[in-house]
Amino acid sequence: MRRLILIIIALVFLPAGLAAKEAPRPVTVLVGIDGFRADYLERGHTPRLAALARQGAAGPMRPSFPTKTFPNHFALVTGYRPDRNGIVGNSMIDPRRPGVMFGLGNNPQALDPFWWSEAEPLWITAEKAGLRSATMFWPGSEVAIQGRRPSDWLRYDQNVSNVQRVNTLIDWLRRPAAIRPAFTTIYFDTVDTAGHRFGPDSAEVNAALAEVDTRIGELVDGAAKIGVRLNLVIVADHGMRAIDESRKIQLEDFIDPASFILVEGGPYAAIEPVTGTDDRVARALLVPHEHMTCARKEDLPARLHWGSNPRVAAIICIAEPGWVIGAGTPPYPITGGAHGYDNADPQMLALFVANGPAFAQGARLEVFDNVAVAALLRAVLGLPEDADADGKLADVRAALRR
Ligand code: AMP
Ligand code: ZN
Ligand code: ZN
Repeated sequence: MRRLILIIIALVFLPAGLAAKEAPRPVTVLVGIDGFRADYLERGHTPRLAALARQGAAGPMRPSFPTKTFPNHFALVTGYRPDRNGIVGNSMIDPRRPGVMFGLGNNPQALDPFWWSEAEPLWITAEKAGLRSATMFWPGSEVAIQGRRPSDWLRYDQNVSNVQRVNTLIDWLRRPAAIRPAFTTIYFDTVDTAGHRFGPDSAEVNAALAEVDTRIGELVDGAAKIGVRLNLVIVADHGMRAIDESRKIQLEDFIDPASFILVEGGPYAAIEPVTGTDDRVARALLVPHEHMTCARKEDLPARLHWGSNPRVAAIICIAEPGWVIGAGTPPYPITGGAHGYDNADPQMLALFVANGPAFAQGARLEVFDNVAVAALLRAVLGLPEDADADGKLADVRAALRR
């Protein structure tokens, strides 16, 4: 009889007792702040981020070339540089898909898995390992790569406010353990947008920094309030540099507009000669220029790790920092800010902050390549390192708690 009573007591109280003791597993949150240049952190407009950096691991991060949004967001979640992850530019062509161009905006190509299948993003690796993932925006996350998407994902919509984005993420964290994600992303575009329109040194960028900082504070406080611990990895894809009308290079000054396709223009130009004109275009471009350097894709400096993918256009010109390359009438005024320069440009350096139980407290990192972030996230999630990847855990091991 006594035994029976004991068993009943155990059955009634043990599960509740266990549940009370078992703190939920920390959730890994990858935060992308588009265009958050590394030194913005020192401006005094981001107190919450600065505190996370101070109490966590932080340091300037070198983006991959080209220093554009899509190639770098994909490099961060795959550990492969653009040449190997297949997203070689914000805009690109592929000889296997003649006549079409991949691009941002309403381009249907951007949602076609064809472009995204050269590397596996972390949300797929996580899902395969039984770790639920949820993406509150991230380039590529709305594409059925290998026929899979994160368990929760949303079609990109710039009109969804930063407040809504944070609230959606907090709602996911609030879920019962069985359907709570282990890996999540959230993406903010407003700092980049302000940087393009008004330039990196503008009051508008400072206001955007302060607003995103407030949102990050709300995310941290919101998670604490519901008792969910976060392993936060807060990154940017690239920096931002001031440009103006006085520093533009018009390609028609050197080559006939009918002789080439400008696949991507701006701080770097991807130029595909129209069949039969290759030599003319090459002869005109592959000479010294005052404010840009041009090369055949196969002759680009090895440190760029870019040019062997068939999607890279035949001739690449890289502008001197602060200059922009274009053809015809630019679709937008050349004013404000731009990115896409050589990734050795210090103004292209990007934000990196890691904070949470998995990370070292007060670690200051030397400049490292952004592809290491995927290796770091894998380690935090308990996934094995991808030995084949460009990014190595060794480059960011100092960010991990011993
Ligand atoms: P960039 O032109 O390199 O400055 O790219 C930044 C732009 O990419 C921002 O204006 C974003 O609105 C846009 N963007 C970010 N994520 C996505 C996405 N998943 N789909 C389409 N556009 C995006
Ligand atoms: Zn960007
Ligand atoms: Zn941008």
